[in-house]
Amino acid sequence: MKRKAENEVKLTLPSRSSNESYARVAVAAFAAQLDPTLEEINDLKTAVSEAVTNCIVHAYPDRIGPVTITVGLYAGNRVRVQVRDKGVGIADVKQAMEPLFTTGGGERAGLGFAVMQTFTDRLRVRSAPGKGTAVIMEKEIRKR
Ligand code: ATP
Ligand code: MG
Repeated sequence: MKRKAENEVKLTLPSRSSNESYARVAVAAFAAQLDPTLEEINDLKTAVSEAVTNCIVHAYPDRIGPVTITVGLYAGNRVRVQVRDKGVGIADVKQAMEPLFTTGGGERAGLGFAVMQTFTDRLRVRSAPGKGTAVIMEKEIRKR
């Protein structure tokens, strides 16, 4: 998706768990312009929810920090969501993305990235320890 977004919104929220539902609804409301099915919207919300929850839980384990979400709508009915934090970062992204891998001890399943992968068409993760993480998800909304 190299071309410029035809429409875009960017929002920054503090990493409070009370903001997670707003974040996923905000993304869904913007993507609604592409006339998605309920299933497509629910897939997008589920993926965004996992990405934002990871910022809340992992990126800022003992403080509140900024979570920036950029939603772009592109030619070909495609939506691109970037969820970015300035938290602790991930040392080994490949390992972190493996299903069932978690640093959350017994509390977490280690399935967040697997869910993001399942419910979008493309998932990319960029991260640097101490600097933060960016999760980029792309999804095509099928023309009906
Ligand atoms: P679940 O999502 O099933 O509750 P989980 O969050 O541990 O469990 P994933 O979402 O797949 O599983 O993430 C895997 C691991 O990647 C996490 O345990 C954490 O170590 C790391 N991670 C994910 N997102 C971030 C982030 N934004 N900042 C720092 N570390 C992250
Ligand atoms: Mg997770």
